[in-house]
Parts: sequence; structure tokens; C-alpha cells
Amino acid sequence: MSGVIVLDGEGKRLADCSEAKAEKLLASGRARLVSQNPFTIQLDAVIPLPQAEAQEDPLQGKRLLLHICCGPCATFTVRYFRERGAQVTGYWYNPNIHPYSEYLKRRETLARYAEEISLPVLWEAPYDVIEFFRRIAGHEAFGERCALCYRLRLERTARAAAEGGFDLFSTTLLISPYQNLQILRALGEELSRIYGVAFYFENLRRGFAEHHRLAEEHGLYRQRYCGCLYSEWESLDPSAPTHRRRQGG
Ligand code: SF4
Repeated sequence: MSGVIVLDGEGKRLADCSEAKAEKLLASGRARLVSQNPFTIQLDAVIPLPQAEAQEDPLQGKRLLLHICCGPCATFTVRYFRERGAQVTGYWYNPNIHPYSEYLKRRETLARYAEEISLPVLWEAPYDVIEFFRRIAGHEAFGERCALCYRLRLERTARAAAEGGFDLFSTTLLISPYQNLQILRALGEELSRIYGVAFYFENLRRGFAEHHRLAEEHGLYRQRYCGCLYSEWESLDPSAPTHRRRQGG
């Protein structure tokens, strides 16, 4: 015996069903009788078509080497990348942090936090401050020196990512409203071509308020200046000659 013809709410024919099932649907009020011969019922609502498979997140299962500038900036970013399914490894290389006592303080803050959240971190040694000052010599103005500072740190990250066989590299600097995302993006893409590892770029500034909350929740040390001696000077003295306002930036 052939089955019962089933129409959806818009009158489109679906797969036939058995008479017993049709009777049940009619009895429950979830369908109405269209005709006895041929036995046809219409469902009272449009049956949703099967949804196309949700697109897999491009970060899912990817090994990501994340340059980390400090513990507080790691809070939101590491959580975010993990939620997207990435296998995150932190990477510490920040010769832009001065003086050395401040560098150690920020490094220790990250070490403690990384342990708390079971984050593996590659610690680049030693303190490469001489290289930092060589790179920015003659380019001390805010903005100009920052581009060189980003390049130094991202270059090392990209190289470490290539050596370690990572799928992607990125940086926690992408969360900061004080950093230049355009320059970071261009640099990341340039280094990606050189080292053959993809750079992950996204404006993560929406997480900046949450990163403050998380840093407080975890009792993390929060610095009051970006990192280099010039930024410390500028934070205390707006008339510092390297200051952005003096550069028209
Ligand atoms: S202000 Fe920050 S980003 Fe700019 S050079 Fe100094 S440490 Fe680097």
C-alpha cells in the first residue's frame, strides 16, 4: 500500500508517511486533512529544511603562537582564542619594557597567570634591550619608534612560529586602543609572507574593558605606561619632546 501524501504548511510535498502516523498527526492537531482519496494531510507549519552544516571556525584546532605583551592583555585574548577552538601557546619577547625591574615584574605576572590557566609559554631569552635601542636610535618620536618596536617583536614571533611548526601567529597588542592596528596588520601580513606562517588579525579592542575586569579578578599587576623609557617619560611629562602631541600625531 502506498503511503499518505504529506504537504508542508506552504503546500510543498514532503516524504510520504504511514497511515498510522498520519492518523496520529491529525489526532494531535498538528496536521489537517486535505483529501481522503488520495489520503493527503497538510502539516500546520512549515517544516524547516535541514540547515546547512555550520561553517567550521578557521581557528578550530589550529596551533596559534600568540605574542603576549603582558599578563593583563593575555586575559581576554587567550580566553577568546581558546573559545574559538585554537590551541594557544604564548610567546614572550618584549625588550621594549624598561627598566629591567619593570620587565621582570611583567614577566613574573604573566608566568603566574599562565600557570593559573595552564597556558604553555615560550620564553625568549635573554633581555634584548640593546637590540631594542639600536633599532629605534634616531627614530625616538612616538609612532615612529612604535612601528620599529612592533617589527622587532612580531619578527621574532613569526620566526619562532615557523621554527615551531605553528599554523598561525598573532599578538595581544590587538586588544589595545593605544596601539596602531593598521601598522600591526600590515607588519603581520608582511612577516607572514617572509616566514610562511599565517598572521591572524582581528580588532579585539571590544575586549579591552573585559580585560581590565579579568586582570582585577586575577589580581594581576597593571602597568601605568606602555613599556619603553620614552613612554614612561611621556606618561609623566606631556612636554617630553618624543611625545605624540609634539609630533602632531
Ligand atoms: S610606546 Fe610602547 S609600542 Fe611604542 S615604542 Fe614604546 S613600548 Fe614600544
